[in-house]
Amino acid sequence: MIVDKLGREIHDLRISITDRCNFRCVYCMPKEKFGRGYKFLARNQLLSFEEIERTVRLFAKLGVRKIRITGGEPMLRADLPDLVSLIASIDGIDDLSMTTNASLLTPEKAKTLRNAGLGRLNVSLDSLNDADFVSINDVGCSVSRVLSGIDALDSAGFKNTKVNMVVRKGTNESSILPMARHFYGSGHILRFIEYMDVGTTNEWKISEVVTATEIKEMIHSEMPLESLQPNYMGEVARRWKYVDGGGEIGIISSVTQPFCGNCSRARLSAVGKLYTCLFASDGFDIRELLRQSMSDAELLEAFAKIWMARDDRYSETRGKVPNQQKVEMSHIGG
Ligand code: SAM
Ligand code: SF4
Ligand code: SF4
Repeated sequence: MIVDKLGREIHDLRISITDRCNFRCVYCMPKEKFGRGYKFLARNQLLSFEEIERTVRLFAKLGVRKIRITGGEPMLRADLPDLVSLIASIDGIDDLSMTTNASLLTPEKAKTLRNAGLGRLNVSLDSLNDADFVSINDVGCSVSRVLSGIDALDSAGFKNTKVNMVVRKGTNESSILPMARHFYGSGHILRFIEYMDVGTTNEWKISEVVTATEIKEMIHSEMPLESLQPNYMGEVARRWKYVDGGGEIGIISSVTQPFCGNCSRARLSAVGKLYTCLFASDGFDIRELLRQSMSDAELLEAFAKIWMARDDRYSETRGKVPNQQKVEMSHIGG
């Protein structure tokens, strides 16, 4: 096991497998920046499945146990089930999940992903109101299409599907209670995410953050909640359960109650850059290393060095250090 400069082990690797997306969420890939003229990555710039598999196998030796496939929209990458089965068969990986907007999920695709070895999914859904949802995704995708995607996961036998809602003041805070009511008792864990200052294209302002406390109080006043213990050390969501047995919710408070102290996550972009923080300005070029003829032992040493030099704690120092260039969410993955 290796630790970084602040004593943190590495347990999670999030892998963005494409920078493309069929949505243009206004806070992530606004059309003004990601419009028709935008140059997405070419196929040969992306890490191949074999390169991703080798990277994961080596990171598993350094302590990684959880892999999350993300993007962009990961369902857009051709032959995704092949990648899933490659990763699922790696020794040491005991949690393989994916984050998706669910708009491209059908019962057949869900079944294929499950058969390939995908363990669980997080689905992003920011509102149950069609007009609000369309004004966020900006491509006319209806709420029912995402809900059908969630149904497809249920029918394929996926358990513990989580639904993630990013809450942005002035955009969708009126959807907090309808979302809580809808997923109450459904077996799906709804998680509210404080709107974060990822990247530079969304022109984030602190005044747009609905705090974790505000979210919790809003729900608690109608549907009483009590606190739950974390499932494991370093869990990002603070857990709450409905007092009357309607299930649990999570609230991720990266802005108002940062959790850098336990952060055990690294992120690999679609071009193979390794980032040791969601808010990093640059990453380490793993693709370059993979495409040299380095042995596994040499690569392992290089990966370990990157982690051991890490001292990131952006969310704990937010606002206290001068503005820096930050990588975009669609590039690094959520
Ligand atoms: N396209 C997939 C999806 O939307 O689920 C996967 C990639 S997306 C970048 C991953 C997650 O990041 C989504 O749940 C999205 O809502 C979240 N996200 C994007 N920008 C964000 C921001 N500024 N603050 C908080 N969450 C954000
Ligand atoms: Fe696409 Fe996900 Fe970003 Fe929305 S949040 S634009 S679905 S990558
Ligand atoms: Fe981890 Fe960086 Fe987020 Fe802190 S700000 S929790 S170090 S990803």
